[in-house]
Amino acid sequence: MTSPLHDNSLVIDTRRLVRRPGTMVEEQFTAPAPADFGTDVLAVPAGDPLDIELRLESVMEGVLASGTVRATATGACVRCLENVEDPIDVEFQELFAYPDRAAHHREVGDEEDDDEYVLGEGDTLDLEPVLRDAVVPTLPFQPVCDEDCPGLCSECGARLADDPTHQHEILDPRWAALRSLTGDETEEKRN
Ligand SMILES: [Zn+2]
Ligand SMILES: [Zn+2]
Repeated sequence: MTSPLHDNSLVIDTRRLVRRPGTMVEEQFTAPAPADFGTDVLAVPAGDPLDIELRLESVMEGVLASGTVRATATGACVRCLENVEDPIDVEFQELFAYPDRAAHHREVGDEEDDDEYVLGEGDTLDLEPVLRDAVVPTLPFQPVCDEDCPGLCSECGARLADDPTHQHEILDPRWAALRSLTGDETEEKRN
C-alpha cells in the first residue's frame, strides 16, 4: 500500500521515493495559498487555490521536485487603483538533497549549494519556498489594469478610463492665468 503524498498541503511526503533512485511519481493537486504569497502590490490571497502539477524523481543526491503552478494573483492598478488580476503559470524545478549529502557539500565548501533545499524530518519536502521563489520574480512590480490605463483625474480623482471625455471648467481666472503660463499639462496628455 502506498502512503498519500500529502494532505492537500504543500508539505510532501517523499518516503516512497527516498533512497530509491529511478523511482518517480507524478500528481496534480490543489493546495491553499499560504499567507503573503506574492509582493506588496500583487499576491495570491491566502487560501486561494494553487493548482499544482508535481513530478518527484528519486536521484542519487535526493529528490528532484519539478512541475507547474497555476493561480491568480490580485492587486490594484498603480494608476487607477482598480482591481487587477494576474494569471500565474510558472514552472519550477529544485533538488531536495538528503541531509547527509547537504552536510557533506557544506564541509567541502561547495559554495554553489549554499541555498539548496534539504529534505526535512520524516523525508518531507516543503514546496512553499520553491513555489515562492519561482512565482514572485514573475510578478510585475507595477501592475496596471490595462497598458493604456490613463489613471485618475488629478482634479477630482475620477477614473479616466470610465470617462474619457472628463474635464473640469476652470472657474478661478487667476488659476487659469497660471495654467497658461506653465502650459496646461492635462491638455497635453489628451493629445
Ligand atoms: Zn488602471
Ligand atoms: Zn476630474
